[in-house]
Amino acid sequence: MTKIRTRYAPSPTGKMHVGNLRSALYEFLIAKHAGGDFMLRIEDTDQERFVEGATEIIYRTLDKTGLKHDEGPDKDGGYGPYVQSERMKTGIYMKYAKELIDKGEAYYCFCDKERLASLKTEIVEGKEIMIYDKHCLSLSKEEVEEKLAAGLPFVIRQNNPTEGTTTFYDELYGDITVNNSELDDMILIKSDGYPTYNFANVVDDHTMNITHVVRGNEYLSSSPKYTRLYEAFGWEVPVYVHLPLITDENHKKLSKRSGHSSFEDLLEQGFLTEAVVNYIALLGWSPEDNREIFTLDELIREFDYHRISKSPAVFDMVKLKWMNGEYLKAMDFDAFYAMAEPYLVEALGEGFDLKKIAAMVKTRIEVFPDIAGQVDFFGELPEYDTAMYAHKKMKTDEASSLEVLKEVLPLLEEQEDYSNDALYQTLLSYVEKKGCKNGYVMWPVRTAVSGKQMTPAGATEIMEILGKEESIKRIKKGIEKLEG
Ligand code: GLU
Repeated sequence: MTKIRTRYAPSPTGKMHVGNLRSALYEFLIAKHAGGDFMLRIEDTDQERFVEGATEIIYRTLDKTGLKHDEGPDKDGGYGPYVQSERMKTGIYMKYAKELIDKGEAYYCFCDKERLASLKTEIVEGKEIMIYDKHCLSLSKEEVEEKLAAGLPFVIRQNNPTEGTTTFYDELYGDITVNNSELDDMILIKSDGYPTYNFANVVDDHTMNITHVVRGNEYLSSSPKYTRLYEAFGWEVPVYVHLPLITDENHKKLSKRSGHSSFEDLLEQGFLTEAVVNYIALLGWSPEDNREIFTLDELIREFDYHRISKSPAVFDMVKLKWMNGEYLKAMDFDAFYAMAEPYLVEALGEGFDLKKIAAMVKTRIEVFPDIAGQVDFFGELPEYDTAMYAHKKMKTDEASSLEVLKEVLPLLEEQEDYSNDALYQTLLSYVEKKGCKNGYVMWPVRTAVSGKQMTPAGATEIMEILGKEESIKRIKKGIEKLEG
């Protein structure tokens, strides 16, 4: 059996979008699941779209996500160069384009802009495209040679038949057949000498021994033309896996503005790399059971590409947040604290036992930026309504709370040990003496010291963090408010 070889072939045109990362991940998983090789190829032949720094983002992202490539520009595996602009310098694309010309499968085209602009256009999938009229196909060999010798600018076009059909197979979509009359004579070599993506991807995937081509389904409509190129060369067509569209919650294509479109944007919003990778794995693929949490190694084990679905995948921020929360819960505390600390410092400054507070919030947040909303009351008692003292289940109301606060105040003033345990003991003895339920006391005390309905910890844990002076101040404030 041939070894599976996949490739991630990004164009360095900016950020690493969720769709790009999914392609990389699926290609990595398909290769690794089968013990194959995952290769990185930089597709930089579109000079106009090239963005400075974009290649670094690609390396950084693959490194951070653990999608280690076996071969690439920085790791020779015998199929280099791995950057298309460098491949071009070896003359490979021109060589193969000329081979097609010799076979009658491609031709030189010298048409200038004006002539092309005058040609008919057609609307294909909402886009206006020009259908080239094969004008230059009728040039004789001598005419072509003359023009080349005169140094006229040219492109090389694929010569597609106008009759018959072309069929290719995609793993998700099955057999797809198109009428050849719909295939335009796409450009293979541009006037600047660079190959188009359309040509380079075929030449490279073949010469680099790629067995599985995984990419977004925006390439599906061009695949008949790629297939015709493979056939013209007499090359084996790779396994095609065209991935479903990723949409936002409103079923619109993920846009750059939506804030969840790029990997690094998500990290900046406080998501964990592992959670993002796990979530992206599920954008189009699902395991046999309904399991959702996977490490990368587990994904490698489970990832069967036949289970990729062709229906659009919805990027659901709520779900990603939930998943991130699960990762935070499972995280080792020291690692969690290292990442949470800057958020805690921003919310509270340095004056608190931030480690203790971190332990309180670890299981209660979904993303790091949630920390501020959980802990802000430590820094400053918020304004609150005394109606909060009334709690049906705890059987408290404003009057009972006032009585409790007044009675526990002297006990708390007397107490020196403000550790959670000691404070709890004090309140517990008071509860026993009073013969009431715990909540009847804990609820008003917690309300007074936090000013919040929900807190990441109980009354005495909060007082331990606040210390004696601040706790007493807040209890007194509560009494004052209740006395109205
Ligand atoms: N360079 C193309 C892109 O970034 C790659 C498409 C493919 O995987 O063939 O969209």
